[in-house]
Order: sequence, then structure tokens, then C-alpha cells
Amino acid sequence: MILLDGKKVAAFYRERIAQKLAAVTQRDQCPELAIVVVGDDKPSAMYAKSMQKTAASVGLTAAIYQKGGEASEEDVTALIESLNQNRQIAGILLMMPLPAHLDSQRIINKICPEKDVDGLTDSNVARLFTGRPAFVPCTPQAVMAILDYYHIELAGKHVVIIGRSNVVGKPVAQLCLNRHATVTICHSRTADLPAVVRQADIVIAAAGRAGLITGSMIRPGATVIDVGINRVDGKTVGDVAFDEAAAVAGAITPVPGGVGSVTTMMVLENVVHHFGNA
Ligand code: NAD
Repeated sequence: MILLDGKKVAAFYRERIAQKLAAVTQRDQCPELAIVVVGDDKPSAMYAKSMQKTAASVGLTAAIYQKGGEASEEDVTALIESLNQNRQIAGILLMMPLPAHLDSQRIINKICPEKDVDGLTDSNVARLFTGRPAFVPCTPQAVMAILDYYHIELAGKHVVIIGRSNVVGKPVAQLCLNRHATVTICHSRTADLPAVVRQADIVIAAAGRAGLITGSMIRPGATVIDVGINRVDGKTVGDVAFDEAAAVAGAITPVPGGVGSVTTMMVLENVVHHFGNA
């Protein structure tokens, strides 16, 4: 059994991003990431700070632009438009969720698609679904980064995804399809989930339900990617019953130390990728 170590994958990207940034900076270009936080959602504030720290660790400036919880759609849109026009800013990351009175997707769509490093604009979603190069959300991108790092082939494989959210399940399904996998998407109304998961060469669990995927659902030798993050008895666990699944799987990601370790690095990769192409 191969343990798919997210920290190793993150370290690989960290090095690559730092090198690209050093090259870009030598050309007198200093890309910056803008992190927009609206309101006082605690997890968003924490994520913004940790993103800023990770960015600093690869030599990328990431500034947090904070708006109050009462900010109007016009206020937030005006900020995004000024960031769109600022040539120094290579990427814009809008922390979700926005306060309830704001129309999230309408605001997201104000982000210039070339700076939409988390792939949330309708334009980037459409590009992904039509198989054209696009920025994609960081978690699905992290899943692909792990599979690629460990040379796990997708073409012709049956990938079973558990979860159909817009930020994880659907985009990861599309990425797998674009790489010639046969894809099945399961969700809360799938009849006989175990029978479907048992058919998978690659299982991608993204339901947010601790222990949903048991060892008996895993086909011997299958690859298991656990995207879930759940708190159980003060511990962070995934959606997969790790010990049981690891006993049958050919390869598996741990939680923590798997997909979650790679996600923030994917946003930074997108910032650098974009600027490198400019
Ligand atoms: P979500 O709640 O938006 O979607 C969950 C999906 O799982 C839904 O489509 C639902 O139909 C499906 N589901 C729920 N219960 C099910 C069941 N019993 N059987 C089959 N399907 C079921 O969640 P999300 O935002 O897609 O996130 C999914 C998980 O991934 C969460 O645990 C979240 O914390 C985690 N996550 C991890 C990262 C990371 O970096 N590792 C990033 C984002 C989300």
C-alpha cells in the first residue's frame, strides 16, 4: 500500500512556485495575491491568514482586503474592480461565505477570469466543462496534483466520486473526465452506495461524513483519495475509515496530511502560472 503523502506533494509545488517567483521577480514583475474578506466569518479570517502565511513562505506577497459585514454589493464590487485593474495583482481570492445579504455568484463574476485563481467565475466553470484550459477550484486541483505526483493514471479508469458540490465533486468529476476516466458521481440519494464504490479503480470521497466509506467498499488495490474533513472527538478525520480502507487499498491519502495539505499551494501555483504566462 502506498501512502499518498500530501505534504510531499505540497513540498514539490512549494519549490516549483518559489523558483518561478524568483524568475518572475528578476524580470521586475512582483505578482501579488489579493485576499478579499467580507464580514467577520471566523473560518474565513483564519483561512485568509493561513493563506497569507503560506504565500509569504514561497516569497509571494498576499494582502488581505477587509470589508465590514454591512458592506453593500456596490462596495465589494468596487473593490474587486479596482483589484482587476491593478496590474500588480495577479490573483484575487474572495473568501466564502459572503454575508447573507450579498449575491455571492454575482460578486464572484466581477472577478476578471484571468485573476480568478480559485476558478469560481462562470467563465472559468464553463471553460472547465468544455475542456479548455481554466483556473479550477483548489481542492479538485489538489486531488489531481496528488494523482499526478504519484503517477496514477486516469485514462480508462473508473473513478467514483462521492459528493456533487460545485467546489469539489462536480469540478473533480470534470477534471477526471477531461483526462479520459469513466466517471460516476454519487450523492446523498445514490441507491446502494457500497455497490457503486466497489466498482471503482479510484475513489474520491468528498461528502463530509466521517467513516462513510468503509474498508468493505474498497476494491482490492484501488486508489482512495479522501477529501473529507470532519471533527470527531476533537480529532480531524476524513470520510474514509482509514485503517480498514488502507488494509485493502493500493494507495490512500491520510487525513490530515493528504488533500488538505496541497490545496492552498494550488492557489499559489495558479497565481504564478498566470503571471508566468503574461
Ligand atoms: P458539501 O456539503 O457542499 O457537499 C457534500 C456532498 O456529499 C453533497 O453533494 C451530498 O449529496 C454528498 N453526501 C452527503 N452525504 C452523503 C451520503 N451519506 N452518501 C453519499 N453522498 C453524500 O461539501 P463540500 O464543500 O463538497 O465538501 C465535502 C467535504 O470535503 C467536507 O468534509 C469538506 O470539509 C471537505 N473539504 C476539504 C477540502 C480540503 O482541502 N481537503 C476542501 C474543501 C472541502
